[in-house]
Amino acid sequence: MRAARIFEDLTLRLEDVPEPVPGPGQVLVRIHAAGVCGTDLHILDGMIKPDPYPMTLGHEAAGVVESAPAGAGCSAGDRVAVYNKLFCGACEQCLGGRHNICDVEPGQLGFNMDGGDAEYVAVPARNLVPVPAEVDLATAAVLTCAGMTAVHATRLSGLRLGHTAVVDGIGGVGVLVVQAARQAGARVIAVADSEEKRQLAVSCGASDAVLAARDEDFAGLPSAVRDLTGGRGADVFFELTGTTESMTAGVRCLAKGGRFVSTGYTDQPLSVHPIEFILSETSLVSTVAATRQDLADALRLAADGAMTVPIASRVQLDGVQGALDALRKRTVLGRQVIELS
Ligand SMILES: [Zn+2]
Ligand SMILES: [Zn+2]
Repeated sequence: MRAARIFEDLTLRLEDVPEPVPGPGQVLVRIHAAGVCGTDLHILDGMIKPDPYPMTLGHEAAGVVESAPAGAGCSAGDRVAVYNKLFCGACEQCLGGRHNICDVEPGQLGFNMDGGDAEYVAVPARNLVPVPAEVDLATAAVLTCAGMTAVHATRLSGLRLGHTAVVDGIGGVGVLVVQAARQAGARVIAVADSEEKRQLAVSCGASDAVLAARDEDFAGLPSAVRDLTGGRGADVFFELTGTTESMTAGVRCLAKGGRFVSTGYTDQPLSVHPIEFILSETSLVSTVAATRQDLADALRLAADGAMTVPIASRVQLDGVQGALDALRKRTVLGRQVIELS
């Protein structure tokens, strides 16, 4: 089968590799759609290291069950979304429903084991979530990362009806956080780095949207947010840009008792004096990916029309490098999807 693989010299190449052979309890899935994610850039840059190289890229996959063992809970022909984080199902975290931080950490598709930018993938049956009939497979693929991450971050943020949320970064995840925060009953202020993304955020439910692209723009963000909130500040600041300037500004956008929600990977430090948190009893909430239930909930929101994934473009497997290049330039509106069949 064809697969997009990352090699130790950090080059991405299309290769013919053997189809995966499902192990005990595993299901073989024929991939129809795979999302192209900013995290893939961190893998291409060597910040996240596969073990071992080479590895098939891709952690946002949806498709159709090709074959399943008896008792798997699914059968050939079922439309499924792949929950990309393997989990043991028996540790303290898994038993508490927090599969995303499983103590055993058996692996994660497209991070440290072969992922979904390929024609087939073999995964444990419990990693599959049925895709409702109303949801197309390209949307389902994006929900396996960006969508479930947005649901998880919103859930952990503690947002409530009437709260104000700032969503900083209107990329593939941010545009879905805007929608999830709206569903939670919040008023949303978006922070975008281009006029096109600013308009996209408004079309997805943000009531206000601020432009901030350069470091000096972020220096002015706290006063812009206070102007929009009668001087009060935001209850939640979702940080998805990941620069020291954006994170520092985010802490200063908060109302008393507010929450700074750190979502996604960054290689830059958060640099604020603890007193900035202490005197206003604000807190930092970290979220990483999402639980299997968050994925199921994201799919349900999409089926209900409450979460819409803007698909920026659709490419074939040989277009993955071009899609990643476009993503690096931060010019993508929504999510790019690889279509495999
Ligand atoms: Zn992703
Ligand atoms: Zn576990």
